Amino acid sequence: MHPFRYNRAQTVEDALQSFGKEPNAAFLAGGTSQLDLMKEDVLRPGALIDIKRVPLSAIMATKDGGLRLGANASNTAVAYHEQVQKRYVGLAEAILAGASPQIRNMASTGGNLLQRTRCPYYRDTTQACNKREPGTGCAALEGINRVHAVFGANEKCIATHPSDMCVALAALNAVVQVQKPKGGTRSIPFADFHRLPGDEPQRDTVLEPGELITSVDLPAFTGRSHYLKVRERASYAYALVSVAIALEMDGDTIKAARIALGSVAHKPWMATDAAKELVGKKPDAALFRAAAEKAFEDAKPLQHNAYKIPLGKNTLVRALMETSGLMPLQGTAGTAFASSAGGVAGDDIEG
Ligand code: SF4
Repeated sequence: MHPFRYNRAQTVEDALQSFGKEPNAAFLAGGTSQLDLMKEDVLRPGALIDIKRVPLSAIMATKDGGLRLGANASNTAVAYHEQVQKRYVGLAEAILAGASPQIRNMASTGGNLLQRTRCPYYRDTTQACNKREPGTGCAALEGINRVHAVFGANEKCIATHPSDMCVALAALNAVVQVQKPKGGTRSIPFADFHRLPGDEPQRDTVLEPGELITSVDLPAFTGRSHYLKVRERASYAYALVSVAIALEMDGDTIKAARIALGSVAHKPWMATDAAKELVGKKPDAALFRAAAEKAFEDAKPLQHNAYKIPLGKNTLVRALMETSGLMPLQGTAGTAFASSAGGVAGDDIEG
């Protein structure tokens, strides 16, 4: 691990000022992912600005009937919050499908948004990786790419975003609240917060240097939401494919729908056109199958991940069936799936 300086901030202003004084600084919250990457020499910040004591842990109602999740609220606190359990079920399911109880106790809401990819080549400093070292190439392109993207990738990077929680937040139309380093705030719709690789695969989000996430706001929602995760074993593993659904009904007709797909792109992938196909119609297996076909019609498989397309379609159909009540919920722990593509040496699937 490279040497770094450590500053503990007590307030948002303190954190922003400390960040501005240090070259190559990074904020530290739960540290559940960041410290591992520092130990593995993947991340080398010159200074860590510890924000754990900054008072951003509250979960509170917003004026418009939504719920504000403080950036330092732990994943456990969010998943078991009464209002989340009652009104944002898909979010609770997504959080509880990820990691272990110990990690969820430490991991923060803001930190979850900033998780780095689980691409095994990103974490192996002997391999070329444009995300870790821009301009060095992408070892996954010609390597084993079974866990990589089928949407939005390019020759610079084919990695996927690893978070479960973010997929549910995208489906629930959350908004990320950010404090700017020189004063002022900005609000970023969740679907715009993470980036596709483009020419800067090293940038996962649209955050500018020194910007600090202060909360994630959930809008008022009275519909049904659900998260379904498919993984290689029944617990403590990253998704091969996941689906988050938010449905609002008018009697027995679908009034509004949002579908987000996980582990298929560099960001939670919104299946907007597929969701539109559902609006104004009654829940029906054939309708859901047509929406799933639509959702994956532009998917582009790599050498080893074509299985994600039928798997993703089937997961989406089942998630829609469960959300709409056409099929009973089969638990929130996710589904284990044995891929025929084999494992990746050194592949990290520990969730
Ligand atoms: Fe790096 Fe992205 Fe290529 Fe993985 S897919 S090796 S993260 S550039």
